[in-house]
Amino acid sequence: MESFQSLSECASLPRNMIENSMFEEEPDVVDLAKEPPMYPLEPDDVVYEPRSSRLLVRGLGENELDEEEEDYESSARLLGMSFMNRNASLRSNSSPYGGQAAGRACSFPSARSLLVGACVLVVIASVSVVIYFLPKCTFTKEGCHKANQSMTLIYPIASNGQLFPWTSMRLPRAVSPIHYDLTLQPNFTTMKFTGSVTITVKVNEDTKNVVLHSSGLVISKISIVPVGENQPKPAQYMEYHPWQQIAAQCPETLQKGKSYHLKLEYSANLSDSYYGFYKSSYRNKDGEQRWLAATQFEPLAARMAFPCFDEPAFKATFLIKINRDKEYISLSNMPKNKTTLVSGGFYQDVFDKSVTMSTYLVAFIVADFKNISMEANGTLVSVYAVPDKLDQVNHALETAIKLLDFYNCYFQMPYPLQKLDLVAIPDFQDGAMENWGLITFQETTILYENTSSLLDKQLVTIAIAHELAHQWFGNLVTMEWWNDLWLNEGFATFMEYMSIERIFPDLNVGDNFLAARFRAMGKDSLNSSHPITTPVATAEQVEEMFDSVSYVKGASILLMLKSSLSEEHFQIGVVNYLSQHKNANTQSEDLWASLSQITEMVNITELMKSWTLQKGFPLVTVTRNGTKMTLQQEHFLLSVDNSSSSSSYLWQIPLTSINSSCSNASSCKSVIMLKEQSATLYVPEEVQWVKFNVDMEGFYMVHYGEDGWSDLIILLKNNHLALSYQDRASLISDIFGLARLGKVSIQQVLNLTSYLVNETSTPPVTEALLQLNHIYRLLEKRGLLQLTARMKAYILGLFEKLIANQSWNEEESITQQKLRSSLLGVACSYSHPKCVEKAKNLFLNWTKSPANVSIPADLMRTVFTVGIQHCDGWDSLLQAYSSSQLEAEREKMLQALASSTDVRKLIWLMQTSLNGEVIRTQELPLVLTTISKNFEGHLYAWGFVKENWDKIIKKFNLGSFAIHNIVVGTTSQFSTQAHLFEVKNFFGSLKDKGSQLRSVQEAVETIQLNIQWMDRNLEALSHSL
Ligand SMILES: [Zn+2]
Repeated sequence: MESFQSLSECASLPRNMIENSMFEEEPDVVDLAKEPPMYPLEPDDVVYEPRSSRLLVRGLGENELDEEEEDYESSARLLGMSFMNRNASLRSNSSPYGGQAAGRACSFPSARSLLVGACVLVVIASVSVVIYFLPKCTFTKEGCHKANQSMTLIYPIASNGQLFPWTSMRLPRAVSPIHYDLTLQPNFTTMKFTGSVTITVKVNEDTKNVVLHSSGLVISKISIVPVGENQPKPAQYMEYHPWQQIAAQCPETLQKGKSYHLKLEYSANLSDSYYGFYKSSYRNKDGEQRWLAATQFEPLAARMAFPCFDEPAFKATFLIKINRDKEYISLSNMPKNKTTLVSGGFYQDVFDKSVTMSTYLVAFIVADFKNISMEANGTLVSVYAVPDKLDQVNHALETAIKLLDFYNCYFQMPYPLQKLDLVAIPDFQDGAMENWGLITFQETTILYENTSSLLDKQLVTIAIAHELAHQWFGNLVTMEWWNDLWLNEGFATFMEYMSIERIFPDLNVGDNFLAARFRAMGKDSLNSSHPITTPVATAEQVEEMFDSVSYVKGASILLMLKSSLSEEHFQIGVVNYLSQHKNANTQSEDLWASLSQITEMVNITELMKSWTLQKGFPLVTVTRNGTKMTLQQEHFLLSVDNSSSSSSYLWQIPLTSINSSCSNASSCKSVIMLKEQSATLYVPEEVQWVKFNVDMEGFYMVHYGEDGWSDLIILLKNNHLALSYQDRASLISDIFGLARLGKVSIQQVLNLTSYLVNETSTPPVTEALLQLNHIYRLLEKRGLLQLTARMKAYILGLFEKLIANQSWNEEESITQQKLRSSLLGVACSYSHPKCVEKAKNLFLNWTKSPANVSIPADLMRTVFTVGIQHCDGWDSLLQAYSSSQLEAEREKMLQALASSTDVRKLIWLMQTSLNGEVIRTQELPLVLTTISKNFEGHLYAWGFVKENWDKIIKKFNLGSFAIHNIVVGTTSQFSTQAHLFEVKNFFGSLKDKGSQLRSVQEAVETIQLNIQWMDRNLEALSHSL
């Protein structure tokens, strides 16, 4: 373990110098601007349409109000994000741009020579393009075929130099798998594994080739034999790396209607990423390193563990056998059938033949884990963890049993397997993964100690509820292709909230869902967003589907639909859908068809298509003239250049409203369906105010015009309890969104927020804090000292009374925990004297006597963040981090460590996280985004990303959620042209190593919008504060 020697001293830091000079000259900006452009990414280069943002909502941890971006991103951890299996060996280790950097030292060429050079380049490029697009036959003796043969397919060149017999990233349908018989043997000495698989395939069309997926596997033997015969014939095989496909070329034509056994033997390294069949390790209480191997296949990494037809529609059964050493156990989707001693002294665990399922749901683990189990309604439920943490799994077991029971009832279809294992994996990039019968979790999303906070408990419960819902939505009924990923993820997200509201109402997850919708709308208002159902082809595009659009927007439109139907009808429709499509694959239309069977009142297909096939969401503008209200809808699009026309966008909006004459009872809510561009509504003359989108159950924003806003602001100031807290929070969210769009002034926003001096409910307070703190952080990064100080004073002024009222003792209510952790987190970060004093004293007492002094878990991060600012605080917290076995506590410690103002410590943290010894590499995105929030570290975090990009994308796949977090998290607080140029320049230079990522588009767009916001509002803000 690498120690951090230089931290023990309490040296005065060069930080003051850095700060001062930044405020005066903005050296970060100036220096960056000095760098010559390398590969500027022009606005025109940014292809927005079919790509998306990749953000999800977390909203569950403490003190996250300064983490608008991070909250979303890190929620992948709990929502079961998945991964892509880019073949690491295909990536280049060296930066192809090293030469460019060296070139910067050269003298600057004259304008004339530049012009001449540019002309030469244009000519060369033009000739190259012409040659490239000419058919290859142009320069051959044979010449080209005649025009009537011009439809000939162009086959790619396989790795052996021959033509690869398939021309698409999607597999052919000529052959499909029925059953896999798979044997694997990992070796923790060589860190390799060997495997053999016999795939029973049926032939749908005569063919000589079987094309399937394989990535990073060294295939030593391949043969094929008709089912029923026993003399396999060797087959040739070739590989096309870019598509991760292999083709077995059979000696004879495979005949339509017949079945064959395709046998392959192979070996590979256990992956050192988080995808495929990967290795992981942990240290036990004695400090001994223990190894394990686990899998993560969704979406495209089963092919890294065995050759297979790795698309969700190719469902098959699996018989899995694992050879292991005596000291380990093995787990897979199905119950273990038997164990036998095989050659080499290994034990072979043979599992039952599986149900029919997609490859991405296959899983196996070899480890020395221990478990606790309980039988419930015919299913043996077990939770596994490393032996030292077995005392933290009880909550997960109880929760899983209760939720399993709920889902069995709700779906009216029992969980189909005899066992269900939930496993805590020490190295696990995302929150959890719903592998059928063998759900895998990151330790933070499943382990729970009594000393953890209710918010931690909520996190664990949500993760379990989400993954259990997938056992039906996703596993039993699976989307046909990744373009409809939302059918899996939107539904599981929706069900996680619904099930917990029913079974664990005290966890109050409705507030989480509300906050998640706000954040998802923030992302969906960008041009880089995408429709819920989006065509995807490449591996990166598949991976990028795992974002807030698929998860939260998908869940939100289901909520909107459920609110438009009755609760009972909705459930019947869902049950219909599951029973009509079980064990099969579906598209969105299939869901609408099943739901349409229950009612003819609404054309569900038409209604829902307007939400799934268009990106973004509508803004409804209300104009009142006496009793007449005119409603108009338009696309809510945050755009700096109006480059994307969206005037034709039209949604079918179930538009709900309440007004001053009736607002408290549920019967007060009126609903109209807004299908056209505009509509008219009449209200009685005496109505003083109208609030649309009641309780924010619809995925749209509302603009009330100047008068309408004024009426609502008066209401908030005089009697805010006339509206539900959801409605108050949604007014806050809407008005900040409208200010970003330029529809309302910042004065109007501050006019509304002034009511917050009387607000005590958690959602409105946390939403306002998040929005205001976001502005504060932007101002801070611009070095606008005076304005930043006034903004801070304004925010603290709004919440002064509430801050003073917070207790620092154990708190029973989760809503109160969330409120105070957010509020005090912000207050202490603003150096609020009383907050800092309380936190400091708690920290000092805790460090003196950790066994006797406990810090309320929801306040830990705040207390640690204050504590590390004192002389030995950082060192002692690092020591505590290294020795703690409680993951929830460790995460708070790590965030506090990353909030240091000492840049040397921050650099050490980033390097240590990347090399993975003291801090697991899976924490790097969290470390980087936390550091980026603070003034002292944000430029260093960005610099670190640039310098280490090649290493980072070896560990986290391009398109992955982690990469998204890193890209957006380290750039989202830039708001200058120089930084925009710098970010475009860097990512533009990456070419196929990241320049086309949606997250890059989102980062660029976010900076552009930040600049626009500053231009629009700085002056008005400085007058208003
Ligand atoms: Zn999921």
